[in-house]
Amino acid sequence: MFDNIIMGVIQVKSTGIVRKVDDLGRIVIPKELRKTMNIKKKDPMGIFVEGDNIIFSKYTSGCIFCGEIDDTFEFKGNTICYSCFKGMNKEAKYFNINKLKRLKSLRLIRGF
Ligand SMILES: [Zn+2]
Repeated sequence: MFDNIIMGVIQVKSTGIVRKVDDLGRIVIPKELRKTMNIKKKDPMGIFVEGDNIIFSKYTSGCIFCGEIDDTFEFKGNTICYSCFKGMNKEAKYFNINKLKRLKSLRLIRGF
């Protein structure tokens, strides 16, 4: 997830590479740079704007609820962090307890 990220003071390093934008607005990232930065074919790239500069960054999908990038796992094609997972578990238990209370009040089940 990207949204607005405060990156603090950015220290940039010149690669000494100059490329021209082609007729379709494309710029090729040099092979050596792709290799160094571990950018593979079809990798999603995030595009940021900082003043007059455009910054490309490898896209890492975060939690669909809070955007957290660390401590995540995939579930049915979505990234979820463990913190949100715990929160969902809590909600699910609460939901089940209320459901049981409703059923009991309707005398559909005993005990509880
Ligand atoms: Zn989360």
